[in-house]
Amino acid sequence: LGRKLNAALSSLNRAPVVDEKVLEALLKEVCAALLESDVNVKLVSQLRAKVRTKVKAIFESSGDKTKEANRKNVVQKAVYDELVSLVDPGVEPYKPKKGHPNVLMAVGLQGNGKTTTCTKLAVHYQKRGFKSCIVCADTFRAGAFDQTRQSATKAKVAYFGSYTETDPVAIAAQGVAKFKKERFDVIIVDTSGRHKQESELFQEMVQIGEAVKPDMTVLILDASIGQAAEAQSRAFKDSADFGAIIVTKMDGHAKGGGAISAVAATQTPIIFLGTGEHLTDLDRFSPQPFISKLLGLGDVQGLMEHMQDLATQNPDRQKEMAKKLEEGKLSIRDWREQIQNVMNLGPISKIASMIPGLPQDMLQGSDEEGASRMKRMIYITDSMTSRELDSDGSLFMEFGKDGSGTSVREVEELLCQYRMMANMAKQAGGKNGWLQAMQKMQ
Ligand code: GDP
Ligand code: MG
Repeated sequence: LGRKLNAALSSLNRAPVVDEKVLEALLKEVCAALLESDVNVKLVSQLRAKVRTKVKAIFESSGDKTKEANRKNVVQKAVYDELVSLVDPGVEPYKPKKGHPNVLMAVGLQGNGKTTTCTKLAVHYQKRGFKSCIVCADTFRAGAFDQTRQSATKAKVAYFGSYTETDPVAIAAQGVAKFKKERFDVIIVDTSGRHKQESELFQEMVQIGEAVKPDMTVLILDASIGQAAEAQSRAFKDSADFGAIIVTKMDGHAKGGGAISAVAATQTPIIFLGTGEHLTDLDRFSPQPFISKLLGLGDVQGLMEHMQDLATQNPDRQKEMAKKLEEGKLSIRDWREQIQNVMNLGPISKIASMIPGLPQDMLQGSDEEGASRMKRMIYITDSMTSRELDSDGSLFMEFGKDGSGTSVREVEELLCQYRMMANMAKQAGGKNGWLQAMQKMQ
């Protein structure tokens, strides 16, 4: 979807003049892309009409005085704004608070990705300084507790469940009480799902809800159902009063756009998107950054959040780093630390796609390749001396002759990348840097 929308908008840049014909051609492409992604026909035609009206009104009011470049911006902004409102439910979701046991409960049909998403959520919050854990209240599916145990262990997250207790309400209550006593910040309750929206399932959800009193109930929906997401979430809403939705399996499903826009129509906020089977395949969702990234415009907000996450984990160190960045005094050792920080935040392609204006070819290759490139850099710096690490690279002549297994060429490459980064960082971090500029714009 992104590629198609992106292509449609860039065709605008190629057009010598933006007239009605160009606008109609653009709208046709945008709408075709949306329909292909299973967005409801009515929503699509509304979007078309709104963009058309907006653009024409602005063109007419300003007449021929409008410069061509400006006309392009008007069209682009109208399309962007309408796409945002297409996926914007206009409701703010619950946000876990520090110093309070936040109980989250996951509900949804079997196979929609509840158990997987619970672990992803725990990892997400854990990384952000919330002590997180999972309670497995699924006694319906054989092996459910084993699945939780395995994925929680892999994620290094605390968990609770039982092989013998058959009452999901009792397990949920016990687990939540135990973790509250142990002062956990985020307690995630995983429930069972059935194949159909059976009344027993709904009853069970209500009972567990009464027992654990969740701060937020999250409906887990599979993206592949497309616009049918609206009917499914309405059916659940009648018995489980969920306050947020996570749409899973956004990877590899062409119908994702349909699911997201259908959910927005129910006025329930989507908080995350599941984008794969790995623990880090969870993207925070909010309308503007989502559309912005979809159109290849970057996600400054997300990037800032990541940086803030780093800052909360180690405020003093990050302040020091920011100062060094501004002054252009980042040493190779500091740089290595930043690479490690970035690697801890999640797949590099995700971080990189948030950076506006970063050429796409810089992101080539898979996350594994990117990660192994980063690991290689760290490996090279591992064999540097303390003096070299604290330098800005000008000492490197001493290095590379010590038979550490890295070639002089690799070190040169590393230093070249370091300098490029140091330059970029200076531009980005300084008082007039683009990060600051973008932040003011938002
Ligand atoms: P539950 O029955 O609702 O608890 O669903 P599970 O968490 O057991 O997930 C069912 C299947 O969907 C598993 O094979 C998961 O690996 C897979 N799955 C979950 N989320 C995603 C996602 O975002 N992307 C992909 N590709 N697979 C997912
Ligand atoms: Mg499950």
